[in-house]
Amino acid sequence: MQNQIPLLIIGAGPFGLAMSAHAKYLGIEHVIVGKTMEFWKEHMPEGMLLRSDSRWHLDPENEHTIDKFLELNGLTYNDVEPLSVQFYLSYVQWFIEKKQIEVFETYVQKLEEDTDGFKAYLDNGITIHAKFVVIAIGLQYFKFLPGSLMKDLPQGSYTHSCDFVDMKSMKNKRVLILGGRQSAFEWAALLHEAGAKAVYLSYRHDTPQFTQSDWAWVNPMIDHIAEEPLWFRELPLQEQENISKKLWAEGRLKLEPWLAKRIKKDTIKLLPSTRLLSCVRIESGELKIMFDKAPNITADHIILATGFKVNIHNVPFLREGNILAKLSVRNDFPEIDEYFQTNITGLFITSMAAGQDFGPFFGFTIAVRTSAKLIGKCIMESLSVQKV
Ligand SMILES: Cc1cc2nc3c(=O)[nH]c(=O)nc-3n(C[C@H](O)[C@H](O)[C@H](O)COP(=O)(O)OP(=O)(O)OC[C@H]3O[C@@H](n4cnc5c(N)ncnc54)[C@H](O)[C@@H]3O)c2cc1C
Repeated sequence: MQNQIPLLIIGAGPFGLAMSAHAKYLGIEHVIVGKTMEFWKEHMPEGMLLRSDSRWHLDPENEHTIDKFLELNGLTYNDVEPLSVQFYLSYVQWFIEKKQIEVFETYVQKLEEDTDGFKAYLDNGITIHAKFVVIAIGLQYFKFLPGSLMKDLPQGSYTHSCDFVDMKSMKNKRVLILGGRQSAFEWAALLHEAGAKAVYLSYRHDTPQFTQSDWAWVNPMIDHIAEEPLWFRELPLQEQENISKKLWAEGRLKLEPWLAKRIKKDTIKLLPSTRLLSCVRIESGELKIMFDKAPNITADHIILATGFKVNIHNVPFLREGNILAKLSVRNDFPEIDEYFQTNITGLFITSMAAGQDFGPFFGFTIAVRTSAKLIGKCIMESLSVQKV
């Protein structure tokens, strides 16, 4: 591994990999570190199906698309959609091979700004010096565990949904899921299919509709941002809010129709418009749980399908270094310019952490190509200025 390099990419998920592919295309020498598709391999359960379709591919150059992958394998959309995590991972593996991306499977422990760029201290003892750094670390440090709920839950009684992927461990057990959106319902179906004795879903709203989400309008919007990076942030606030709300409604007020019949089971009990009032662990180890508007239940474990909320201060390698003290932060998000650059020259932050300035689509893989193109453009411009 070269330890003096123009660009370091931290994260080897969809955003980091697309960035690496595009950097190669532009001829930007770089190193990419992280565990390849770690979040998808370790924090999504086997059998999970994606909400996104084959159009959300990784290639900013539109060459190694999911369409191409399907064509080479003699498959059609009908054969693979809704896409499984396993299918998506096989596409990503093919993409990595085609683009000849070499991921260094190690973590950054500490990132520091230096006199001439950045120093990243890796788990394997190596230090990398880079002029530019792209942070593409996804959601994993941003799990949302609402304080108001946590105070009522005994220690060890709960797990965030993204840390609960071994459904078989709940065979013959009773599970309460707190949360009422797609992952709460999908976890319920998977738990039932893995042999759970009972699954309760408690959420504070009505049951969302099982109906097809429409994401088609998002694609042109994201492509447009690649051409006109200021487009979203220059919209009147009301329009920004309307777009965010529309996306929110597609994602959160709808459940995928393919879940409906997997949920209608005697062992899965929906508790809409309910709140947990108390949870006590009794001598037998079971949890006695009271709700405001539903009968008491007994459960063995609680899963918090409570989503994610960006707080850049949670990122361990930033906490360790000297970056956080200098980084401009608003509402716990880093402030970034139209090229994802923070106020620290050369430091770019993308993916979900870019959502405040770029819009909520940046929590999804639809945005990987636009992100890579804009960051690539900015780095190329800086490099050409330096050469002059
Ligand atoms: C239940 C669920 C379902 C989802 N379904 C979809 C879907 O259908 N379609 C869709 O588009 N999106 C979906 N998403 C969102 C999707 O997971 C994210 O958009 C995507 O993973 C973000 O990509 P990323 O590359 O930023 O981060 P990730 O995929 O999370 O990858 C993060 C990378 O950072 C690395 N990393 C972390 N810490 C360090 C460190 N200290 N040093 C070096 N590397 C580090 C990790 O090893 C990993 O390689 C879903 C999310 C969840 C939770």
